[in-house]
Amino acid sequence: MRSNTHILLGILAGSVYFHYFPNHNIVLQILFSLALIFGVLLPDIDEAHSTIGQRAGFVSKLIQKIFKHRGFFHSAWMILILYALFQFVVSKYLAINNFVLMGFLVGYAAHLLGDAITVNGIKPFYPLGLTICGPVRTGKFSEVLVALAIITWIVTH
Ligand SMILES: [Zn+2]
Repeated sequence: MRSNTHILLGILAGSVYFHYFPNHNIVLQILFSLALIFGVLLPDIDEAHSTIGQRAGFVSKLIQKIFKHRGFFHSAWMILILYALFQFVVSKYLAINNFVLMGFLVGYAAHLLGDAITVNGIKPFYPLGLTICGPVRTGKFSEVLVALAIITWIVTH
């Protein structure tokens, strides 16, 4: 799935999260949105040619070599590790607001969901072989349909 579609899906997921856990502080809303977009793009750091991979340079190449594209960074383990890290370290010692951290996690999870509906899918329990996949072909008409459906939902809600 392409970065733009990932971002759209992230916005959709962020809107749903915000509906159930609203926050009326405008600064936190902006930080939530920025964290969300970063979370949406970060999983593809395991692919050196991705939007974030190109910016991360050798770090991305190293991660791709060690973890493989759509490997560990595209697994449920990352969500659990990041959640634990945020709850027990980041929000405790760095005083970063939990709402902002959840924005990042929602974005990260939305990315995995987006890749899970593509033909290649993801391995949520990597390195175990179980693969979740769907009918969407990256960069093809089916992805355009998904993007249009998300835009329609965002505009009408
Ligand atoms: Zn991905």
